[in-house]
Amino acid sequence: MDEKSTKVSRTLLQKLRDTLGESGEGQERLDHITQLVAQSMGSEVCSIYLRRDRQTLELCATQGLNPEAVHQTRMRVGEGLVGRVAKQATPINTQDAPHTKGFRYMPETSEELFPSFLGVPIQRLGEILGVLVVQNKDQRIYTEDEAYALEVVAMVIAEMKELGAFTGEGEAMSAPHQRAHQFKGGSAQEGAAIGVVLLHDPKIIITNPVADDPEVEKKRLNAAIAQLRLNVDDLLNSSRSDNKEQQEVMEAYRMFANSRGWVTRLEASIESGLSAEVAVEKEQSATRARMSRAPDPYLRERLHDLNDLSNRLLRLLTGQGRAADDKVPENAILVASNIGPAELLEYGKSIKGLVLENGSVGSHATIIARAWAIPMVIHAENITREALNGDQILVDGDQGIVHLRADDTVVGAFKDKIAMLAKAQQKYAAIRELPAVTLDAIHIGLQMNAGLMADLPSLVSSGAEGVGLFRTELQFLLRNSMPKRSDLAELYARVYNAANGKPVNFRTLDIGSDKVLPYLQPEDEPNPAMGWRAIRVGLDKKGVMRMQLQAFIRAANGRPLRVMFPFVAQFDEFRDAKAMLDGVLRNEERLGHVVPVDVKVGAMLETPSLAFAPDQFFEMCDFISIGGNDLKQFFYAADRENERVRRRYDTLNVSFLSFIEQIAARCDLFETPVSFCGEDAGRPIEALCFVAMGLRNLSMRPASIGPVKHMLRRTNLEEARDVINEARASGDQSVRSAVVKWLNGR
Ligand code: PEP
Ligand code: MG
Repeated sequence: MDEKSTKVSRTLLQKLRDTLGESGEGQERLDHITQLVAQSMGSEVCSIYLRRDRQTLELCATQGLNPEAVHQTRMRVGEGLVGRVAKQATPINTQDAPHTKGFRYMPETSEELFPSFLGVPIQRLGEILGVLVVQNKDQRIYTEDEAYALEVVAMVIAEMKELGAFTGEGEAMSAPHQRAHQFKGGSAQEGAAIGVVLLHDPKIIITNPVADDPEVEKKRLNAAIAQLRLNVDDLLNSSRSDNKEQQEVMEAYRMFANSRGWVTRLEASIESGLSAEVAVEKEQSATRARMSRAPDPYLRERLHDLNDLSNRLLRLLTGQGRAADDKVPENAILVASNIGPAELLEYGKSIKGLVLENGSVGSHATIIARAWAIPMVIHAENITREALNGDQILVDGDQGIVHLRADDTVVGAFKDKIAMLAKAQQKYAAIRELPAVTLDAIHIGLQMNAGLMADLPSLVSSGAEGVGLFRTELQFLLRNSMPKRSDLAELYARVYNAANGKPVNFRTLDIGSDKVLPYLQPEDEPNPAMGWRAIRVGLDKKGVMRMQLQAFIRAANGRPLRVMFPFVAQFDEFRDAKAMLDGVLRNEERLGHVVPVDVKVGAMLETPSLAFAPDQFFEMCDFISIGGNDLKQFFYAADRENERVRRRYDTLNVSFLSFIEQIAARCDLFETPVSFCGEDAGRPIEALCFVAMGLRNLSMRPASIGPVKHMLRRTNLEEARDVINEARASGDQSVRSAVVKWLNGR
């Protein structure tokens, strides 16, 4: 950008700032801005289009087009040149708009008179808020400097607080972030909580979009960058690791922080009149736009680093955001775009609920939220943009609904729901010490799933008879390097001690799929859930599996040991894994370690193939645990992580229930104990149907034991079976409605 044009853009920005400082309605200001820009750029037309909702743009102010079209002309994002600027988040610069790809004629605006068109996105941190357009009668291509100046103006418009008010015809011009909002997401953990928003990554509010003095701004920027580099060095030194790839990634991060090109671009934006903060945001918007288009995962990761650095820089410049030692407010509900397990653990158990824009039911943040028994909603789209720290928030983990700044009626109804849940909890507590026996005197073993030390106190409070599934991968996932055998042995010994004689099924590492260990180079697999995971990794990387088996044996220190192997698809895998365990046991004995008095070796049945394994498998296997989460996804070929399909096929579909019945019968034949440890075991109606199909042991989240036991103790299994059989005979696809009807009519 040459000096003259820098000056033009700076003068324009100064005038803009004065306009923004004036009192008056939002509309007046937008009108004024369009006049100012048209005048400064020598254009006959300047228009501002703003996003009305996710799909629609609306002409909100214009200088030069037909004023009648304001708040009338609308287009879909992607439609016409304006819509394309918004969709692609890139400028369009043409001297022949009517013949440019995507042009759509809008007679009400009379824009056919202006063939030259320059449109730039109005965006804030990668979110497209609208489009700023200038048009001319003469055929001309706008210079690069003009395009840059218009982008700079668009950045300042994006900072206007009242922008959010232009969201619809006739809608009150109320300030954004004040209205009530409801978000419909997915349930990751049941329960209800009422509290205040705590943003994991709070929004930064910028009050000075235009620079008073570029020299001062540059000084502020450079001071913040110097601080940023020191912080990054500290971060890298404290997380130094022997893992080569990890070190390389960290060094790339440092390289970005020291990149001269990055700083030069930031300084150029300041020169053109932006404040240091908005200059950083401008760079960040460009990064985010590139990130969304980058096809290569490696490149996307690097852009993610750059985005992260911009965030840190913004926090340094504004002094806003959360410091590591900030206290978690009372009744905090954590709201984040996404969060890793370690970050979540840092907040501690005082968090009352968790709401994520992304996330998945099987993610590690979810597993922790479950261990903490806090309600959690995932896929609450756009919540981090709407929520502000301290806003009142209601989380309905049962329905997957979040209410932000709800009105009194909703709050009242919600409080009633919480009171009802508390009452139910009292009911469950009263039967805690009683066995899960049906009305026709069938005893069902109820155990709990665990994966963290934090889960273990629930063994007593839930009334579980043992740990049916101890997921060991979380301990690996929480670290950034491979844990040592002695650390693992110590941890498993603590699990034994906490179990206090109750049985614990230790599952060997189930990594791969959605659980990727940062220090084991993840394979770039097209379909990781069906890829190199669980026992497949264990059998190929024998060192890791042996190390874990040794840790189990040492932790047992003579006590009985129960080990189960995940994701066994065929007999050979089980036989090889069991042989490995036998070998490790012999070796431990030779080394003089005490070996367990009794060793039981089980398999998780998570692929349909294992149900049809040779008889010898059932004879050799000491116990089987049905991993229903995986089994269901492979039975129906419906990804358990994919919101579009994961609920498409009912667990109580007759096909799946009949399959469970077959597995139970086959295990019975060989007297191989079998249990079900997928999420469905914790749902009372599903649990009842599994039991009716012949299962006698279920393992579930601790919080589900009360509701499931309550259901079983009130039910006659023979009758339940009759209802299910009748529904099956009638040709119903699912037995659910018949069972629910019967339960409600009792
Ligand atoms: C399952 O698949 O049902 C299971 C219990 O294992 P995970 O959820 O850890 O894959
Ligand atoms: Mg599984």
